Amino acid sequence: MTEQQVKNYIGGTLVPAHSGLWLDNYNPSNGQVYSYIPDSNAEDVQQAVEAAEKAFPPWSGCGAQERYRIMNSIADLIAERREELAQAESMDSGKAIGTSRSVDIPRAEANIRFFATAILHFGSESHHMEGVAVNYTLRQPIGVVGCISPWNLPLYLFTWKIAPALAAGNCVVAKPSELTPMTAFLLSKICLEAGLPPGVLNIVHGLGSKAGQAIVEHPKIKALSFTGGTATGRILAATAAPMFKKLSLELGGKNPNLVFADCDFEKAVSTTVRSSFANNGQICLCGSRIYIERPIYEKFRDELVRRTKALKVGDPFDDKTDQGALVSKQHREKVMGYLALAKKEGGTILCGGEPIDPGGALSGGYYLSPAVAEGLPNTCRTNQEEIFGPVVTLQPFDTEEEALALANGVVYGLSSTIWTSDIGRASRIAGRIQAGIVWINCWLLRDLRTPFGGVKNSGVGREGGTEALRFFTEAKNVCVRY
Ligand code: NDP
Repeated sequence: MTEQQVKNYIGGTLVPAHSGLWLDNYNPSNGQVYSYIPDSNAEDVQQAVEAAEKAFPPWSGCGAQERYRIMNSIADLIAERREELAQAESMDSGKAIGTSRSVDIPRAEANIRFFATAILHFGSESHHMEGVAVNYTLRQPIGVVGCISPWNLPLYLFTWKIAPALAAGNCVVAKPSELTPMTAFLLSKICLEAGLPPGVLNIVHGLGSKAGQAIVEHPKIKALSFTGGTATGRILAATAAPMFKKLSLELGGKNPNLVFADCDFEKAVSTTVRSSFANNGQICLCGSRIYIERPIYEKFRDELVRRTKALKVGDPFDDKTDQGALVSKQHREKVMGYLALAKKEGGTILCGGEPIDPGGALSGGYYLSPAVAEGLPNTCRTNQEEIFGPVVTLQPFDTEEEALALANGVVYGLSSTIWTSDIGRASRIAGRIQAGIVWINCWLLRDLRTPFGGVKNSGVGREGGTEALRFFTEAKNVCVRY
């Protein structure tokens, strides 16, 4: 095997899977296998857990300042290799290089720096019983924790989990998606260079159903932070709950955008193009159901369609590309299946939804033109199920109450966006909308200190800022009698 081999990172060394087996890793821009990843199983996970257990006492005991120092060196190396990592991310996921350069890699660096610093400011409570005693809370690392992340924002979401876990003093067994393992592999090399002690972070590559499941089932892994689909989250919870593991689940979404007639039209329409199709619609925070107040329905629809048609789909490595390839052949088939369903359910596809062949070396890639549909009832499957691709639906509404009912009429509740110049109305809706995140007159404006997560079938628990540090620590009350 002369092509690139991704290796597991276990106990500070880069190793193949015990099984000696490899999985093909595809380049979505041309549909070709370009590297191989270890097909890991429970044996590899066991070795990773043993390495993590050994590393835990010194890592949890070395002090926040030392953990900050090493993590900051990791962030420095990510910054130095920004371009190499961005190229690798686009090769692995098919996303446009501009997105990797401006979103994925800078955010991965920011995640590590943010939590490296946050741990230096992480306080805990004390409760005074006047004249009797004082209670203080210790927030102690849990031990060995598991982090499992998806393919849509590979290094971005991987670091969003491992950074707070490590900063809080835990040792980690982590698995990136088998579809996008490359930047996690490059990160393991960076960790070696930065002097992260062996076993503090272990990365096991392979299939979710095998390597991922072995992490979830391992009795020594006491907490699991998972981002992925709702169906997978259900499997995880079923396995982990009877073992009394701490669980953080960031799951699927079907996010609404509410566009009122009094909005700043230009800002609303230009941001809606982005919130619909950024990263090919493969961001859990993309708005996929767009509700438009009737007086501006046609105007907004026509402008959105015009701008969607102008998006350039093609070579992820061309700076001018807006939309690269979808992550896999199966995923493109799934998205196209939903477009066929939308037609069956009575919808009209106003633009897009066609496979695109850029020709030449890119002929085998998984390209799809971004699609806008209308004429579908809120209750149909197209409007109820997560598509997670470049597809949005439009529906008109007449009143605030109706808009809210439509927005809340799904099983998901991750994020939402409200466009209006009436701040009273925006605040009213923000209070009543069923979502963990509400953006008013903006989208994807992120402050890493804020709580991040969903309600209903979009997840359990919150990430971000102190929420993540609390998740990755156990609170212990100490009562001192005077
Ligand atoms: P999946 O649920 O298929 O996979 C997520 C991760 O879980 C992958 O690493 C996967 O491995 C692994 N996995 C799969 N089965 C198991 C199992 N039985 N035990 C342990 N691990 C397992 O999600 P996708 O990768 O397809 O990601 C897309 C989904 O993620 C969408 O639903 C999206 O909404 C959601 N998401 C949610 C976010 C949020 O913050 N709420 C953010 C980003 C995405 P492998 O890929 O190797 O099978």
